[in-house]
Amino acid sequence: MTVAVHLENVHKSYNNIPVVNDLSFTINAGEMFGLLGPNGAGKSTTIRMLTTLTKPTQGQIEVFGYDVVSQPILAKQRLGVVLQAVSVDGDLTVWENMELHARLHHIANPGRQRLIDQWLEYVDLAPRRNSLVKTLSGGMKRRLQIARALLHQPQILFLDEPTVGLDPQTRRRLWEIIRDLNKQGMTMLLTTHYMDEVEYLCDRIGIMDGGKLISLGTLQELRSTHGEGLVIKQVGERWEYVFFPTLEDANSYLNQQENKTGMMVRPSNLEDIFVELTGRKLD
Ligand code: ADP
Repeated sequence: MTVAVHLENVHKSYNNIPVVNDLSFTINAGEMFGLLGPNGAGKSTTIRMLTTLTKPTQGQIEVFGYDVVSQPILAKQRLGVVLQAVSVDGDLTVWENMELHARLHHIANPGRQRLIDQWLEYVDLAPRRNSLVKTLSGGMKRRLQIARALLHQPQILFLDEPTVGLDPQTRRRLWEIIRDLNKQGMTMLLTTHYMDEVEYLCDRIGIMDGGKLISLGTLQELRSTHGEGLVIKQVGERWEYVFFPTLEDANSYLNQQENKTGMMVRPSNLEDIFVELTGRKLD
């Protein structure tokens, strides 16, 4: 199996304060990998290191076999990135943004125009090719960012909170695009706060907290590890959650209780596991 991304004991500190702390994991080619974590967990810093935008303080990172520190150009040719902040130029047209990016990647004509047309068509922006980007909706801008990131035909796409702030219809359209690209063989790493997004899209999930990877696996593996059954009990204004290995175990626990008032049983989901692992503190 081809390894798309490999991190080995990666650390990153800003002003001697560690923000990524001994991170090691591998993403295989073709995988859709979801990176979750509360704000400040170190997800964006990890994406910035993976995409050569910032250097690790310590440790090794490879993208399709290329070291991001010693071979950044070779690594960059293989990766595309869609960052949180909308990075397209509002005063240029859709086509001009694509043209500029393609030229920066030294993509020659006539292939350049063919690729621009192909990807604008793919993200449903062909009819808006001559519109100024500042006149586009948030969802259109995000689709343009994706089209632009695909121009140099990367093998892996990094998406940092790709659907934040978008309405449900637009989110679902982006999910279709992301899923379809993955079906065509594109490896993907995405970060998000939306658990349904991860459950719907991702093959494997890594949960980060305080700069460390605290859990890694498929949704089913995470549920088996942390418990597939959940007993929920309302205590005053609060809800208490107790995990059980299976739904059956949770049900038999409930059946043994003399007073079942305010108690219910259900299968655990990713959000339950996420909150259990990362705590219920608010930031
Ligand atoms: P996440 O994406 O999970 O919310 P980040 O990677 O953005 O987390 O941030 C992790 C921590 O690193 C935060 O405490 C943030 O304040 C800090 N941090 C990120 N970038 C910088 C920087 N350029 N200088 C100093 N601290 C930073």
